[in-house]
Amino acid sequence: MAILQILTKEDPRLRKTSRPVEEITPRILRLLDDMKDTLHKANGAGLAAPQVGVLRRIVLVETEPGELLELINPEIVAVSEERQEDLEGCLSVPGEWGITDRPMTVTVRAQDRNGTWFEATGSGLKARCFCHELDHLDGVLYIDKAIRMLDDEDLEE
Ligand code: ZN
Repeated sequence: MAILQILTKEDPRLRKTSRPVEEITPRILRLLDDMKDTLHKANGAGLAAPQVGVLRRIVLVETEPGELLELINPEIVAVSEERQEDLEGCLSVPGEWGITDRPMTVTVRAQDRNGTWFEATGSGLKARCFCHELDHLDGVLYIDKAIRMLDDEDLEE
């Protein structure tokens, strides 16, 4: 297990489209373990493989401590009509925060580390995380779609 380096927004790898995982090899399992350690060390709610320089369609989401979701080849399969606007940040954009508009509830379909397909549904923070992390797999950062970024005055409050 290892703590991986998290790339920051200037890194061009964050702008690439990640490739599907075709086979869950020991190397992929080790990546999942290392990403978990890295996410915990950084106190984040989610981490996508491209953020650690691996252009593969893998994300971790942990919006409740101890409830880690490993999503391999995830796709969004359903979103609610109801929307939410809330604060978002990113481990690759340290020190900045912005308001984004996201669906209130999102269902994703993904493979687990055994290769079994499953679906997971989340609302509120978890739905935002699903959208945010899956965007990373297509080279999209939340700062691209934020309604507005918080400025220094907001942050002092
Ligand atoms: Zn992010």
